[in-house]
Formats: sequence, structure tokens, C-alpha cells
Amino acid sequence: MTYEVAVRTLCEFTAKRGNLDMRFTPSPSALEGMAGHRTIAARRGSSFQTELTLTGDYGLLRIRGRADGYDPEQNRLEEFKTYRGDLARMPENHRALHWAQLRIYGWLLCRQKHLASVKLVLVYFEVASERETLFEEEQSAQALEQHFASHCEEFVSWAELETAHRRERDAALNELRFPFADFHGGQRDLSRAVYKRVKAGGALLAQAPTGIGKTVGTLFPALKAMGAVGCSEASTPAAPLDKLFYLVAKTSQRQLALDALKRFQPPDSTLPLRIVELVARGKSCENPGLPCDGAVCPLARGFYDRLPAARAEAIQSSFLDQDAVRQVALRHQLCPYYLGQELARWSDVVVGDYNYYFDRSAMLYGWTVTHEWRVCLLVDEAHNLVERARTMYTASLDFDAFNAVRDALPSAFEPLRRVWSDLNSEQPESHRIYDEPPEALLTALNKLISNLVDYLSSHAGQNEALQEFFFAALSFARLAADYDSSTLFELTRPGREQSVLCLRNLVPGRFLAPRFAGAQSSVLFSATLAPHAFFRDILGLPQSCVSLDVPSPFQAEQLAVRLVRSISTRFKDRARSLGPIADLLVNQFRAQPGNYLVFLSSFEYLEAVAGLFTDRYPDIPTWRQHSGMSEPDRAAFLARFLPEGAGVGFAVLGGAFAEGVDLPGSRLIGAFVATLGLPQVNAVNEEMQRRMATRFGSGYEYTYLYPGIQKVVQAAGRVIRTTSDRGVLYLIDDRFTHSRVRKLLPQWWNVDTGVSPRPSSVV
Ligand code: SF4
Repeated sequence: MTYEVAVRTLCEFTAKRGNLDMRFTPSPSALEGMAGHRTIAARRGSSFQTELTLTGDYGLLRIRGRADGYDPEQNRLEEFKTYRGDLARMPENHRALHWAQLRIYGWLLCRQKHLASVKLVLVYFEVASERETLFEEEQSAQALEQHFASHCEEFVSWAELETAHRRERDAALNELRFPFADFHGGQRDLSRAVYKRVKAGGALLAQAPTGIGKTVGTLFPALKAMGAVGCSEASTPAAPLDKLFYLVAKTSQRQLALDALKRFQPPDSTLPLRIVELVARGKSCENPGLPCDGAVCPLARGFYDRLPAARAEAIQSSFLDQDAVRQVALRHQLCPYYLGQELARWSDVVVGDYNYYFDRSAMLYGWTVTHEWRVCLLVDEAHNLVERARTMYTASLDFDAFNAVRDALPSAFEPLRRVWSDLNSEQPESHRIYDEPPEALLTALNKLISNLVDYLSSHAGQNEALQEFFFAALSFARLAADYDSSTLFELTRPGREQSVLCLRNLVPGRFLAPRFAGAQSSVLFSATLAPHAFFRDILGLPQSCVSLDVPSPFQAEQLAVRLVRSISTRFKDRARSLGPIADLLVNQFRAQPGNYLVFLSSFEYLEAVAGLFTDRYPDIPTWRQHSGMSEPDRAAFLARFLPEGAGVGFAVLGGAFAEGVDLPGSRLIGAFVATLGLPQVNAVNEEMQRRMATRFGSGYEYTYLYPGIQKVVQAAGRVIRTTSDRGVLYLIDDRFTHSRVRKLLPQWWNVDTGVSPRPSSVV
């Protein structure tokens, strides 16, 4: 059996030593890197060959890679490395790694072309100045072969372990048993579709109701398919999968995924499947406040020297959640945050936030491309990806933050200050959307960034606010370079001296599309993914993406759905709506005492309704959501929903209690949704509506209607959690009776369009 390894992976494993050093290193973007490579190649002679594919074997290893350039006339092999700022600040261990790679390419070239020696040239290219710095050495084929052998020798025992693990893993997954006695409602349909898609490759959008067990229902078939495509006995069209990324929007979903993965462990042995949880730096750093620099943080010092032993120990344990990673890290005096990332490279299943794969500089996506991993994405509660991705590809710059740091380098800041001030004075209104960011602004911004690179390179860690501004500026400039109609450029002036520049992404699809294309299979699932076309368009899923609607396991009799058309919750009618809503609540509560949730469109509306209700009916226990609630406050809110309890909780639609909250049985017997959840009508949304109309022919639906009704359906989904639950749902607003709204409500709901509000008996 052959074990394929990229030159870069091999060297990162065998040649990376010394400290972890994450000090100020503004690395070039992928585009800048590619442009840098093109510039260097264009400067070489006509005989210069680029992107030379090189391979070689050593025992079971097949080493492959692409050298950046070779000139046969000069017998000169070059490796390009792009950077920003001062080369002298590049840590020594990075340089050693680059040499290790180049020498391996050197041997592969000598072997392939039967050369006795070759000149090796390490080219460092500074992207701002386009300056090249060259380091050269002449090496004999014999010396290079020894170098190659020593690295391969160090890696080969690891490769043997990996190969054995992979064989055992695939065999075990192929035999994997469903962890429950049987599938639950539509769980079987979901699992079948996921299995088929992961085996064949491609994308699947699966809408499946709450309560059917989507986490297990997607993980099980994906793991099973992973084993099936990996097993040599299986004949399948897709290539064997290397990794499965389970991506979530919230921490609670991460825990649910880990709990589900634990269920697959056989009772008397360990499933040979390496699972790692990725946790944000803020939640896993042992020395908050210190820079991630071996010169300062003891857990970064000698990180790569102690990493091999920690890695070898960690892979003995197949379940590496946050706690397990921390234990290993501390035993080896290593940073748990960065150890977690290192372990993700060698894991089969990675559980982490959307950011790790979808963000602009996403680590998992970057590695997938670099290492040519074949991955499957499971995107949990995927309706959240729309807003999360918009945020990932939005950037803003604040004039206050700019002014607060410009004293550090007044002359460098001055050109941008002038352009920005002119823009401010030319805009009397508090908010304006422009066709595009002005050229003069971007020119001044890019110039400032170059100056800041030089300055910060020699003043690293001395001015945190400046560094923060620099990264905001860099992110803004990079997004501006990609500007098109999927993004808005806005200038907001909240006060006379205040000003905020914003590049607001509306359609993240163009950024996400390559990320989906980079995965062998992607499964996006949620209870609210309708209409599928909306998600396909906004998220940039391929046209070949398959859609699935899993029927609900619940019966219409379980949920009495009442449309209250006599009340309008439109902004202009809100004051008039308070009394009728309070009447509706009390009538239902008196008829059927129990726990209810009331969803309003804003905290202001919530306070008005809840205030009136408590004044009128002080005997009925109530509790309210507040803006910015802490974790303990949220837990206390939910704890009020006691089994067999009776009271009314008030919450905002789209907030912390409107999804991902599980209150089965008598903990929640009814909900009132007093809003269509439509986003506010404002200049941004109106512009979005125009652009959605131009691009997709559905301006109102894509901007207002679909996002609003998705929130309503999510909130309503809190009531019926199991097949034995019974409940009532009031949808309060005359617009719920419109056919285009009704069409978006779940099909299993038996909707009563009764005009006059009357209480329903639910138990
Ligand atoms: S422990 Fe904290 S400061 Fe130290 S390297 Fe890790 S994340 Fe950075």
C-alpha cells in the first residue's frame, strides 16, 4: 500500500521546530501570493519552467509536490515565498522549513532528470515593494538524496501508523451500527439521502423537521459512507474520504455533535475514529493577555519541539474534545488552542464553528486545498449560514478608531484622513449607499497599509489599538478589491464628527462557492431551508445541488395552529395591538393553564406587551428576555419552564430562545408569534431588495419574506418536540392569511384561519 504525502506536509511534520510565533505577521492574501508568483516568473528567462510536478518514492511513501520554477539552461531550481514587511523578522524556524522543502524538491528533480547536482534558490518576494531577496546554494544529488532519506525515515513510521489506522477506521465504519433500536420518523429518509450524496459526491440541502434527530441522522450515514468509500471491497464512484467536518453556528450544537459521536462508540471497545473539537482562542487560551509568542508565553516556547510527543500521545485517544486536548497539552506544556489545530490535521472528524471552513482565511478550507484532502461537510442548522457568511464577508472602518491611532504615524495617515474627511463633508445625510468605494479612498487606504506593515513590523506588540486598526483596514482593502454588486459600500454618519465606512455583503455565494467546490460532498441541513432555491442562490451552492424535504413525524392533531387575522402587528398598528394580544394570551392561559412562550419583533414591543399583560393579570407568572443576557441569565429564563408549570415567557423572534431550545412535554404547551419577522424596512434592505430583484427576480421574497417566515417557523418549532407533545400556536397578524405566506408554513400544520381569537384546548 502506498501512502501519498505532499512535500509541504512531510516537511511540516519533520522540519518544523522551535517556538510558536504568532506575532504580527500580516501574511499576503492568496491572490497577492499568486500575483507574486506570476511577477517573479515573468522576470525569469524564456527557458524558465513553472509549476514543475515532482514525485518520488521512499518505502511505502509516495512524495509529491510542485516546485515553483526550474531553469534547465542554468540548472537552477527556485522556490518562491511571498511575505509582507521586514524579512529579518521572519522566524528562523520558518526559513529552515523553506530550505527543507526546497532540498526535497532538489532531490526529486535530480532523480527525475538524472542530474548530478543542482543550484537551489530560495526567493523571498515582498508583495508591497515587489522586491526579491535571494538565498542560493549548490547541492549535489548525493547530499540531497541523504536529506530526502532522513526526512522520509522520520515520517515513515508515522505513515505506517496512519495507513493502519485508515484501514481499521474504514473497516470499522463500514460495519458501524445505528446507535438506536430504530430510526426516528423521517430520520431514515434523511439518512438515506445523506448516505447517497456522500458516497456519490456533490451537495445536498436537506430540510428536516425538529425532533427527528438530525445530528445522528446525518453523522451516521456520513460516517458509514466514509467507511464504504474507503473500503477496498466497496465499488463506489467517489474517491475515499479523508475527513469529515461537522460545522456549527453555535457552541451548543458543537456539544450535541460530540454527544452524538460518543454514541457510536461500541460498548466494549473503541471506535478507531479520531475526533477533535476546535475551540476559539478566547475559550481555550491558558494565558489570556499574553501574545502567542514563544519569547513571552511559556506554552508557545519550544512548541514544535514538544509537539511530536504530544501528537503521538493524543492520537492514542480517539475522542479529543476540548477537555481531552487541554489535558494532553498541559502534560506536554503546550498551548491547547494550537495543539487542537495541529491535531485537526490528523483527525478523521473535526467539530467546529462555520468560521473554520467558510471564513475568508479559514484554516480547514486552506488545508483542504493545500493538502488536497477529500472532505465531507456537514453544515448543521444551515439556515444560520446566510447571516453568518454575510458577516464573514463584511468589513467596516470607524473614523473614531482611525483618529485614535493616527498619532502613531501622522504623515502616513494624513492622505487617508483627507480623503475620508472630504467624503464626510460631501455627505450631509446620516447614511448613504454609494455605487462603489471611491478610488481615491482605496488608493490612500492601500498606501497606509503598506506604511503600517513596515511600522508594525518593527514595533510589534507595542500598540494593540494600531494593530487592530491595521487588521480592520487590511480586511476592508481585501474585500474592496473583490467589490461587485453582491456588496454595498455605505458611509454612515451617526454624529457630526462620527463616520463609519462599511462594505456590507448581501450575497456571500461568490465567496462560499469555491469552498463548496473544494469539498467532495456537502450536506446542509436544518428545519428551515425553504425555499431551497433561496439558499442555493444566496449560499452559492452548485446547480447540481440536490434538495430534500423530510416529512414531519408529527401529526396535524398535535398542534392547533390558529391564524389571528383581526390583529395587525405592523409598526403603525402596534399601540392598538397591545390590548388584543394581552386578551388573546389570557384567554388561552385561563382556558388551558401551562407554560407559554410569546415572540415579539423587538425588545420595545416585548416590553409594551409584557408590561400591559403583567399590569392587567398580576396573578399570572411572567418572565422576559432582556437584551444581552448572560449564559446564566439565559439558563434561568429556560429554567422557569418547569414540567407541569404555568406561566408566560416573553422573548424576541430570532433571538436566543427562538431556536435551539428544547422544552418537551408540559414544559411548553403553546406559543404566540406576534410578528411576521420581516426585517426592518430601511435604506440597506430596500437596496438589497433592488439587487435581489435584479439578480434573482425575487426582491421582496429574498429580502423580507423568506428570512422573516424562517424565523417564525423556527420559533414555532419550540412547541412540538416529540410525537407525544401537544400544543397550540397562535400566528398573530392578518398577513399570515396571505397565500404567499401560507405556502411557506410547514405542510403538516393544520391551520385554522378562524377570524375571531378563541382559546384552544391543547392537552
Ligand atoms: S496559551 Fe494563549 S497566549 Fe499562549 S500561545 Fe496559547 S493562545 Fe497564545
